[in-house]
Amino acid sequence: MASDCISGATSLAQILHRRAERHPERRALTFIVRGTEERTAYSYARLDERARSIGALLKAHGMEGERALLLYPQGVEFVEAFLGCLYAGAVAVPAYPPDPTRLTRTLGRLLGIIADCRPKVVLATRELCAMAASFAEQVPGLAELKWLATDAEDLGVVALTSPIKAASEELAFLQYTSGSTSAPKGVMVSHGNLLINLAHIGSSLRVGEDSCSVTWLPSFHDMGLVDGLMGGFHWGYPVYLMSPADFLKHPLRWLQAVTAFKVTHTGGPNFGYELCVRKVTPEVLEGLDLSSWRTAYCGAEPVRAGTMRRFVETFSPRGLSPLALAPVYGLAEVTLKAPGDMGRGVVTVSVDKEALKEDRVVPLSAGDANATEIVSCGHAEEGYAMTIVDPESCEALPEGRVGEIWVSGPSVAQGYWRKPELTEETFRARMRGDDARRWLRTGDLGFMKDGLLYITGRKKDLIIIGGQNHYPQDIEWTVEAALPAVRPGCGAAFSVDVDGEERLVVVAEVDTKQQQGGAALDLEAATATVRKAINEAYQLRLHEMVFLKPGSVPKTSSGKIQRQAAKRMYLERGLQRVTEEAA
Ligand code: ATP
Ligand code: MG
Repeated sequence: MASDCISGATSLAQILHRRAERHPERRALTFIVRGTEERTAYSYARLDERARSIGALLKAHGMEGERALLLYPQGVEFVEAFLGCLYAGAVAVPAYPPDPTRLTRTLGRLLGIIADCRPKVVLATRELCAMAASFAEQVPGLAELKWLATDAEDLGVVALTSPIKAASEELAFLQYTSGSTSAPKGVMVSHGNLLINLAHIGSSLRVGEDSCSVTWLPSFHDMGLVDGLMGGFHWGYPVYLMSPADFLKHPLRWLQAVTAFKVTHTGGPNFGYELCVRKVTPEVLEGLDLSSWRTAYCGAEPVRAGTMRRFVETFSPRGLSPLALAPVYGLAEVTLKAPGDMGRGVVTVSVDKEALKEDRVVPLSAGDANATEIVSCGHAEEGYAMTIVDPESCEALPEGRVGEIWVSGPSVAQGYWRKPELTEETFRARMRGDDARRWLRTGDLGFMKDGLLYITGRKKDLIIIGGQNHYPQDIEWTVEAALPAVRPGCGAAFSVDVDGEERLVVVAEVDTKQQQGGAALDLEAATATVRKAINEAYQLRLHEMVFLKPGSVPKTSSGKIQRQAAKRMYLERGLQRVTEEAA
């Protein structure tokens, strides 16, 4: 029984260990390639045994309560090392080795994390450990640290007999935020936070031992780690793990894995769903059976109503239930998933674009020319509170007003690592007239309607021109829709100060191969098209449209747009523009 393994446990390590005792042979984790080929398969007994051995290695190095930086490619080696940390009471810091093909995206993050958390050891595969010296050039400080290889069968230690008993308020790991708006911050997640969030995800996403999941999300980000991996070990269902690169090469492999392993539970950001819709071919479609898929969650970035609709239209003939689609809201500061129930499919509301510019929510009928459609992320759930607050006055706002989303509840993490002031400001905010409760300020904007939460965007990315609010993602989507050469999800809108006035700038990657008939992109005509579309949709004058080479819009390692970084690069003339001849 699931509850037997979970009840009374104070750490995930304890739950996993109990599962290994009850069902040693049951499949816990399988690494797959090309969607359906099984590479490495771990039973609960094997996973527990590896975690106990790595736990012993960490104990031998005095790692209890100390930080260990985890540098692994996507795979079982990361998972067993992360669990080894939980078993030994070491504080895991999931990260990713510098990727030579995407150095600017991956190196900055890694350097920031090392400087911030100052780990005592680096855990890695033998292959990476052998390269430690060669990292010295790129990553100062890394080569001087003690490196421990964890993937040898014999680690030269006697395995722990069981995981250490961790108190629920003890620190389990540091989850670095994606770094969309500023340098990644180390969120301190306790054992209790993790267990409570997993319990909450399980009950709202309706998972249990009869579930099955597959994930291609990077394991060092919160969604890939907490739901993608730990959810399976907590609830006792098998997890299939594939690499993000495998997915990006052929996104349909995700759905082929759902078909092959009768997956019930898997999800990702909007761009993952969009890629499947765009890349599917009639032959691949024909081979899919998505009838097992009960929860297709979508979060981590704005959920587009259009993407969800097209995904359902495309894949419901292959057994996908429209009710499986589950837009979710999450952030590392609440461990992963913010309160929000699901099970009703994609619920949207159409509201007046003009009123939204003044933070007012005025419903309009769907299809109205002045309407914008926003996707709901569900009701607040038991044990949590979620309120919309005026970010300046800290007063609660009524339904129908846009404000900052404030959350309180048991999976709100302990704070940011070594940032006491920012922790106080962000995690212990006080609402005017309510002294009893401390709130997490999410930095996200949204509104409630009929008890449902709707997210409109991030406070830091909001474009305020002429006293009116514009959401960058809306503008980016308008540009994509107006110009087929713009690569989806590869644009950034922001404002810059021009002679004391905020003016709109859009930068966007263009795929010149997408041009019909292979004709060159006429940059002037393309700019005029965008200008017109923006003017019509927002009555805004575009200051500059910048077309960029593929891969040059700054993004996080999880693929989120970094608009503030794009703005900085624009101002410093550091963006790789497409020139007339190249286009
Ligand atoms: P950083 O805090 O370093 O700038 P980040 O906020 O992107 O990066 P994460 O904790 O990984 O780091 O992501 C959480 C954020 O993702 C949320 O605060 C929100 O802005 C965005 N997000 C998550 N789910 C949704 C959703 N359903 N709709 C819109 N935005 C979402
Ligand atoms: Mg954030």
